[in-house]
Order: sequence, then C-alpha cells, then structure tokens
Amino acid sequence: MSKEEDRRIDAVLDDAVTRLASASDSPRLDAELLLCHSIDLPRSYLFAHPEDTLDEKTFSRFDALLRRRLRGEPMAYITGTKEFWSRELLVSPATLVPRPETELLVDLALREIPRKAEWQILDLGTGSGAIAIALAAERMMCEITAVDISDTALAIARENARQHSLVNITFAQGSWADPVRGRRFDLIVSNPPYVRTGDAALAELRHEPVEALAAGADGLDAIRALAADCGQILRRGGALLIEHGADQYDDVAAILAASGWTDISNYKDFAGHPRVTAARQGDK
Ligand code: GLN
Repeated sequence: MSKEEDRRIDAVLDDAVTRLASASDSPRLDAELLLCHSIDLPRSYLFAHPEDTLDEKTFSRFDALLRRRLRGEPMAYITGTKEFWSRELLVSPATLVPRPETELLVDLALREIPRKAEWQILDLGTGSGAIAIALAAERMMCEITAVDISDTALAIARENARQHSLVNITFAQGSWADPVRGRRFDLIVSNPPYVRTGDAALAELRHEPVEALAAGADGLDAIRALAADCGQILRRGGALLIEHGADQYDDVAAILAASGWTDISNYKDFAGHPRVTAARQGDK
C-alpha cells in the first residue's frame, strides 16, 4: 500500500519523471500524458490540482503504464493514439507509429493535387491510414485507395477513416500494387519499409511491426518493388512520391531511373535530411 502523500499528483509526477529519465527523451511530457490516460482527464487538470491524491487503483493503473514505457514501448501504443496532420489517429502494434517527417510526404502530395481535383490517388502500405486520411480530408473530391498487406493494420486504418467521417477512402488488402492491377491513378504515395535488416536501429524500434520497417539487406527491397510496379498503374505525367531513409536518396534515384522514371527530385524533411523522392511517369 503506498502512502497517501506519495499518491499526490505532483509527487507521482516527480517520481515518474525521475524514473523515465533514462528511458525517454521527454520524461515529463510522457509522465503527464500517462497520468492523464490513467485518470481520463485533460493535462490541464494536473496543473490545476497538483495536491489531488490518486486512489490505489488509479495509482497502480498509472504504475503499470509507466512500466511499459520504461521497457521502451512507444507512447503511442500505450495510449493507443498518435497525432498526425493535426488529427488523432488510432494505432496498434500492427501499425507503424506515424512519424512527423511523413507529414512532408503529405505536404508534397497536396502541392501536387489541385484543390478541386477529382483524382484517383493510391497509398501503398497505408498502415494506420495516416497518409490516406490526411489526403482524403484535404481533398474531399478525390478518391483514395489505401492498400496494406496486413489485415490487422487495415482494420485500424478503416476505423480511423470512420472516426474522421471520411467516405472517400477505399481499402484493399494485398502486396504493394497487386490489388489494384489494371487500374490507373493520378498520384501514388508510399511510406514503405526502408530500414536495412541488419540495422542496429531495429532494436530500438522492436515494438513496431518489423515488416513495416525492414526491407532487405540494403533497405531498398520495397522501393524496388514500387519502382517496378507503379509505372503501369500511373497516368502519364503522374507523380510517385516515396519516403525513404536519409542516406538512401542516390540509391532510390538510381532505382527509379533504371525503371524509366523521369523528373526525379528529392525533398528534405524539417531536420534537413533527404526524406522524400518524387518521380514522374514519362512517355512510354
Ligand atoms: N522513419 C522510420 C524510422 O527509421 C522508418 C519508417 C519506415 O521504414 N517507413 O524510424
């Protein structure tokens, strides 16, 4: 039984921050969000009522979440949500946690799509549906097709589309372009797996689905598949936008050029890293 003064909100938070220091880059924020999740109240409550005491049950609920975070589980899996493009999305261990740098891909796609366009847009490897949902919300007249090989990921993506009341997304299960062969799109976007299978970073990312992260010895297997398959399903002049690793731009450009893509250009993320490559489908 913990002592009552040890269960005061301010004391609980201070203790959690100390414990999280080695496990997180943002120990105070994490501690506050985990506590909010345990008491089901907004963050402002913590600042307004630092002297409130947690009952035993709430305290142990919080402690259980804290232990998960201390074992390296991403905040998004513990709280079940992640913000992307200013929307709260459901995530689960079946989906990659959407990354802020992927907003660059959304931004570039939106620059490509005229405001009143009625385009067919394809998102390959949609995961939680983050990119598809952002595009569907910003371009209501467009039809987004979102593909993923994982049924469990698609269930999350579908639920996200439902929660955001988006009716202009269709979901399809399968490997890359397989479920949409024979169709034609105006734009194709993808945040495929691109980490090298031997990359030490995978240990850090161990809670996330490895099939959404790793793509062969050089991390480029998925991008090779996209370069080979997307040409046939993209209209002439249409763009393919692919996210990739910071050091993969030259390789990605070479792969695309070898498959006949033109106008290959690269864009940097907010950290200044080459992150998205765009290419066009020229004359064939
Ligand atoms: N950007 C992610 C990371 O390395 C990888 C995401 C991906 O493979 N698509 O943390």
